[in-house]
Amino acid sequence: MRLSRYFMPILKENPKEAEIVSHRLMLRTGMIRQQSQGIYSWLPLGKRVLDKVNAIIREEQNRAGAIELSMPTLQSAELWQESGRYEDYGKEMLRIRDRQDRPMLYGPTNEEMITDIFRSSVKSYKSLPLNLYHIQLKFRDEIRPRFGTMRSREFLMKDAYSFDLTQADAIHSYNKMFVAYLRTFDRLGLRAIPMRADTGPIGGNHSHEFIILADTGESEVYCHKSFVDFDIPAADTDFDSVDGLQSVFDKWTSVYAATSEMHDEAAFGTIPEGDRLSARGIEVGHIFYFGTKYSEPMGAKVQGPDGKEHLVHMGSYGIGPTRLVPAIIEASHDENGIIWPASVAPFDAVVINMKPGDEACDTTCDRLYVALQNAGKDVLYDDTDDRAGTKFATADLIGVPVQVIAGPRAVAAGEVELKDRKTGARETLTIEAAINKLT
Ligand code: ATP
Ligand code: MG
Ligand code: MG
Ligand code: MG
Repeated sequence: MRLSRYFMPILKENPKEAEIVSHRLMLRTGMIRQQSQGIYSWLPLGKRVLDKVNAIIREEQNRAGAIELSMPTLQSAELWQESGRYEDYGKEMLRIRDRQDRPMLYGPTNEEMITDIFRSSVKSYKSLPLNLYHIQLKFRDEIRPRFGTMRSREFLMKDAYSFDLTQADAIHSYNKMFVAYLRTFDRLGLRAIPMRADTGPIGGNHSHEFIILADTGESEVYCHKSFVDFDIPAADTDFDSVDGLQSVFDKWTSVYAATSEMHDEAAFGTIPEGDRLSARGIEVGHIFYFGTKYSEPMGAKVQGPDGKEHLVHMGSYGIGPTRLVPAIIEASHDENGIIWPASVAPFDAVVINMKPGDEACDTTCDRLYVALQNAGKDVLYDDTDDRAGTKFATADLIGVPVQVIAGPRAVAAGEVELKDRKTGARETLTIEAAINKLT
């Protein structure tokens, strides 16, 4: 992508409305634009990052055996009347009427709809286990939308729903998502800690919020420090191994971790003082086993091996991609701007032409640009007439992992400079060596 032809509306000043660093940087870099309160457009730079986050989420969901579909944003109120949640949901639900005066709503979540899809076609235990997910917009009329897309009214959610014959099978499905979440957040460059969450009348300990520690987080959290060293399950994890997944779950839930809602001061007090961590955190994911809460009122049953009908056991598993993007920035930035983990960076490298119009600089940059693109890299080519200082500041601000700087003097010697955004380390290489290193 040539910067001169791109759409990346950078702001020179810090936007006043932004209270936290991620919001400030997302506005400054032109990643997002607010269209009305808590409702955002994702501009091209932001869209690139969001797509990369979604791709990682999708890969890990698929690896764990979940199957992607797509459900609509608008739902009929009837389904929610069946489950009993239409009245209960309250003001967070955006209720709409169509021209026939039928009550509709903009989905805040999809348990009802997926249960309806399930019951209409699955009749036998032989079709189980089943886990269906989509990545789709949700709407919740949050009382206090804030921090940009961290808490917006319209937001993207990956929501998966599992269906099993028995509670034991459902726990295995839960553990699959537990492992998938550990891998997903790790690949996004984040250390997310699963913390016990309220299960309400369902009971048990199968609800976890995945929390990222950050001073600007809205949740108060308490946990044991040892989470920092726990191993992330490998990519070749056998998701069919009941015991294997259970041991990962057991390990990751063996030490104390709870949000303020579930906090038990006495249990926390038994941890040696130096190992206690009391901090603030951001909820980036939430998984929940809820048994027959929806299958019962909505009549989602399958025939079991005993020939009888059984209500299916369900769980739901959410991740917020549009919250993850600012969460990653909260975890990874410096005074000059964003520092993207390579896995979600909008571009792998930015080629900075220090003197557009200079034949040698232009030829060198074109060569780098083409070579990197041919190697499948996403490259931004700063071919603008901006001053050198502006170009460096922009490259730092948007946080692309590697800057390839082509100035007239170096180019005359057949060389370019590489700068690592994270460490600031610079090295001068021949053009050939630079291409080899980056491809
Ligand atoms: P919160 O406690 O922050 O209000 P929640 O518990 O209501 O979130 P869930 O219903 O568990 O959210 O939804 C699953 C995931 O969707 C959350 O873990 C979060 O990542 C994301 N999410 C929820 N609400 C929002 C929002 N208003 N803006 C952006 N992402 C959200
Ligand atoms: Mg909420
Ligand atoms: Mg919550
Ligand atoms: Mg939640």
